[in-house]
Amino acid sequence: MSTILETEEHKALRAAVAALGRRFGRDYSTALARRGEHPRELWAEAGKLGYLGVNLPEEYGGGGGGMAELSIVLEELGAAGSPLLMLVVSPAICGTVIARFGTEEQKRAWLPGLSDGSLSMSFGITEPDAGSNSHRITTTARRDGVDWILSGRKVFISGVDISDATLIVGRTEDAKSGSLKPCLFIVPRDAPGFTRTPIDMELQAAEKQFELVLDDVRLPADALVGDEEAGLLQLFAGLNPERIMGAAFSIGMGRYAVERAVEYAKTRTVWKGAPIGAHQAIAHPLAQAHIELELSRLMMQKAAKLCDDGDDIGAGEAANMAKYAAAEACVRAVDQAVHTLGGNGLTREYGLASLITAARVSRIAPVSREMILNYVSHQTLGLPKSY
Ligand SMILES: Cc1cc2nc3c(=O)[nH]c(=O)nc-3n(C[C@H](O)[C@H](O)[C@H](O)COP(=O)(O)OP(=O)(O)OC[C@H]3O[C@@H](n4cnc5c(N)ncnc54)[C@H](O)[C@@H]3O)c2cc1C
Repeated sequence: MSTILETEEHKALRAAVAALGRRFGRDYSTALARRGEHPRELWAEAGKLGYLGVNLPEEYGGGGGGMAELSIVLEELGAAGSPLLMLVVSPAICGTVIARFGTEEQKRAWLPGLSDGSLSMSFGITEPDAGSNSHRITTTARRDGVDWILSGRKVFISGVDISDATLIVGRTEDAKSGSLKPCLFIVPRDAPGFTRTPIDMELQAAEKQFELVLDDVRLPADALVGDEEAGLLQLFAGLNPERIMGAAFSIGMGRYAVERAVEYAKTRTVWKGAPIGAHQAIAHPLAQAHIELELSRLMMQKAAKLCDDGDDIGAGEAANMAKYAAAEACVRAVDQAVHTLGGNGLTREYGLASLITAARVSRIAPVSREMILNYVSHQTLGLPKSY
């Protein structure tokens, strides 16, 4: 892939992460997922090399970069067949929110660990009765002396079992108006009243999704991230990185699939004289997939630049567009890759079929294709809302 818009440092980071990814690869990830285990060695190694916290401030053990760098890390690991889903939540969402809005104590407690991988955090916003409509979330925090008492339910939250804590999006009641304001709370994995049940997903991935119940979970005052008044701003600060990383995840997976298909199409010969890759019905859709992945990466780079420059509004539009474009490109790339391999596209040996389900996730999470189309219809084009 062309990397013309990247600095020498970015190119070096890309090459180094790609080399790490190749040392692990898809066989490693697949074997772990089948055994129900987690990619601990890869996570630890990436942490040791400074890749996990490449976006976090240097004074707290991070690399001092931003989403431009962290998205390179996830894309390259994905392109090597061993993506780390928790990069989307732990350093990107939670790390960014704490680095930008956390208290000094929270930064010291979390950022060095998130950077070197010795700590990790999951992120919980989705609720069973709210779904895409996060204005409807009902997880609520009330004061009890200096403590907070948090109650509610969450669903589809990734990696809660392997995270030291979950950053939970809840609401507090405004003392004056009675209206509910979003607030972010750090909930330790083993806090009394915080229970999790794994959801049986048809996904072959090491990271599991959980339904969470928060039953009067008592939290100390400093579990609240930053400021009660700035909850919405803090939430948005985490959502742009989430979408940029969603795009990186999709681009990495799409690249992995296209590379496998191209390798196969160059050698598989069923008609005299020419491999199947010589047939335009096979070659053109692969070329198309490559172009679409390249284009979505351009938009991801734009979003990352705006985000790293502190333009949250501009980054919002670009991050949504990048996430949309990358997900669509990934779904088409994976579909075409499987098709290119014919029957082998569905064998365990070639390992591409399970990517069909994995690629579909990128259309739904962290924000669905339709919610991005709604955003662009209303925010960018100024069209009226239907809901
Ligand atoms: C593998 C996986 C991992 C996840 N990890 C996390 C996580 O770590 N943390 C977390 O908080 N969440 C997580 N999620 C949840 C994810 O963010 C939600 O699934 C997603 O936001 C959609 O919500 P929903 O599933 O309730 O769908 P719904 O909101 O019920 O939507 C169902 C369908 O209706 C469409 N729809 C809804 N409203 C509209 C509308 N107004 N206009 C047009 N179409 C509409 C949607 O696009 C979708 O196609 C994860 C989900 C998956 C599948």
